[in-house]
Amino acid sequence: MKDFNLDKLTRENVKGLSPYSSARDEYVSDGAEMVFLDANENPYQNGVNRYPDPQQRSLKSILANQKGIASENLLLGNGSDEVLDLIYRAFCEPKEDNIITLPPTYGMYKVLSGINNVENKEVLLTTDFEPNVDEILAVANKNSKILFLCSPNNPTGNSFAAEKMHQLLKDFKGLVVVDEAYIDFSAQKSWVSQLDKYPNLIVTQTLSKAYGLAGIRLGICIASKEIISVLNKIKPPYNVNELTQQRAKERVLDIESVKREVSDIMTEKDCLSKVLLQVNYVEKVYASDANFILAKVDDATKRYNQLLEKGIVIRNRTTQPLCKNTLRFTVGTAEENSKLINALNQINN
Ligand SMILES: *Cc1c(COP(=O)(O)O)cnc(C)c1O
Repeated sequence: MKDFNLDKLTRENVKGLSPYSSARDEYVSDGAEMVFLDANENPYQNGVNRYPDPQQRSLKSILANQKGIASENLLLGNGSDEVLDLIYRAFCEPKEDNIITLPPTYGMYKVLSGINNVENKEVLLTTDFEPNVDEILAVANKNSKILFLCSPNNPTGNSFAAEKMHQLLKDFKGLVVVDEAYIDFSAQKSWVSQLDKYPNLIVTQTLSKAYGLAGIRLGICIASKEIISVLNKIKPPYNVNELTQQRAKERVLDIESVKREVSDIMTEKDCLSKVLLQVNYVEKVYASDANFILAKVDDATKRYNQLLEKGIVIRNRTTQPLCKNTLRFTVGTAEENSKLINALNQINN
């Protein structure tokens, strides 16, 4: 990545933009008691009558501190889905550029390529669910702006081999987005530690999974200051609301509770994996680095419907490439998992 040039990857119209300057951007409080008559807000205090901080400074400083990076390496969004959309819009010219995804993987990359009218070049994972490096590099052309690597991958649950990811980060000419939605469940190290080495690396994380805050929508983008500045130009000013900023701060500061829950989920996952292996219509249980388990069964649609009748909702992944007759089980509480196990044992034929 010696000849990396961010300018060449950025859309022409985006290069010319400067970020929208809102009232809350133009005057930043230094903590002094000021009279705020600049944003046409209702002055009567109710906790959320003021616009939120468009740059989420205090939440970012907590996150930056925890991740050992600078706030300038962070952009926050309304879920990582918004962060991913911003990446498309900053770098992909509709009808001209393309992105590369590696099915079976997270469905939003394809949805967003449709919405943004950007071609999605699909290169299947190998049968052991690893990136096919040679084929990816062969399919890439000068308009390939983004390669999405979901690691740990959804729905397969594995982390990609580090050596393959290094090779792709080195040889792919566009940006490489490593989606780490499940990194907190993984023994693997985050790719955030490689930001200095790879100027084309963008890591996305979320508070939706391990942090237990899917309902507040807080997505995290970690990249070079240069990439973050480009994304900041197109970010809606108040994309992360005040309630979300507050709840996210509380939870991120209470990292011990998060770790405790993650550790309980991992214990439950190991237990559930062992039980699944003993169910006679389960043919294979894939190793998982996440908080879900992919398993191959005799007839996924039949088993899915049987579980549904017993009031248990899992994900049928049988239509995904390389995933014929697979089911994805999210790890629940001990109580939920034992309900699942009971149901699995009752539907034996
Ligand atoms: C769940 C998930 C996300 C989370 O998206 P949010 O918008 O942050 O809730 C992102 N990527 C993958 C691969 C996921 O499975």
